[in-house]
Amino acid sequence: MSQLTVKNLELAYEGKAVVKGLSFDVKKGEYLCVVGENGSGKTTLMKSILRLIKPQSGEISFADGARVGRIGYLPQQKTAQRDFPASVKEVVMSAFASKTWLPVYTKAMKQKAEQNLELLNVSGLAEHPFSELSGGQQQRVLLARALCATEKMLLLDEPVNGLDPTATSEMYSVIKQLNDQGMTVIMITHDINTAVNTADKILHLNQDGHFFGTTEEYLASGFGDALLKGGLK
Ligand code: ADP
Repeated sequence: MSQLTVKNLELAYEGKAVVKGLSFDVKKGEYLCVVGENGSGKTTLMKSILRLIKPQSGEISFADGARVGRIGYLPQQKTAQRDFPASVKEVVMSAFASKTWLPVYTKAMKQKAEQNLELLNVSGLAEHPFSELSGGQQQRVLLARALCATEKMLLLDEPVNGLDPTATSEMYSVIKQLNDQGMTVIMITHDINTAVNTADKILHLNQDGHFFGTTEEYLASGFGDALLKGGLK
């Protein structure tokens, strides 16, 4: 059974189509990488899955434990957002801000935040100002925050953007570890090598059509040759 099914989706801004005729599905525990040139609609697609953008037409549906409001999202980070004036703990706890009408967080919420900080190896930084962390540590904290929203499905928008090679490989291995433990991962990446070496399936968005299939099918299709022109590593 699919956890996420997208059927004949069209997405547009002010009537101008960004994505057209898109269909794919993601099963529980799968690792899907979304690739494509800048402006091909990858972030717009993620926003539509999160119901932040309403499709022009088509369907986005959830099953098998996934549902709107219970998806962990790690948005693409802009430098300005990295200066957020809050402690690490406050950043992670903000995942629950929309889930409580009380001015306090419940014990269960605090425990979940602590568990996720521990899981991502940043619990020792809980009281530190978020803005003083390295880029890699900040991404781990934001991933911990995303995990507070879900036990089923993570949407990651270029999670290694701006990270140095060590922090990049650490981030990828944490994501793979979560996936190995059963988390469904949908990740936008420019890193085609990581995509084809790690993902089960590839979705390649392109103005002239899309590719969706297994990594092996993608490599055999020639669809990604322009992105792969640097050669696989
Ligand atoms: P990608 O993530 O693949 O780089 P995006 O989804 O960010 O692509 O953008 C797809 C297209 O939609 C681009 O042409 C972009 O300029 C346009 N776009 C993105 N956000 C908006 C917006 N809020 N209003 C109007 N156009 C937008």
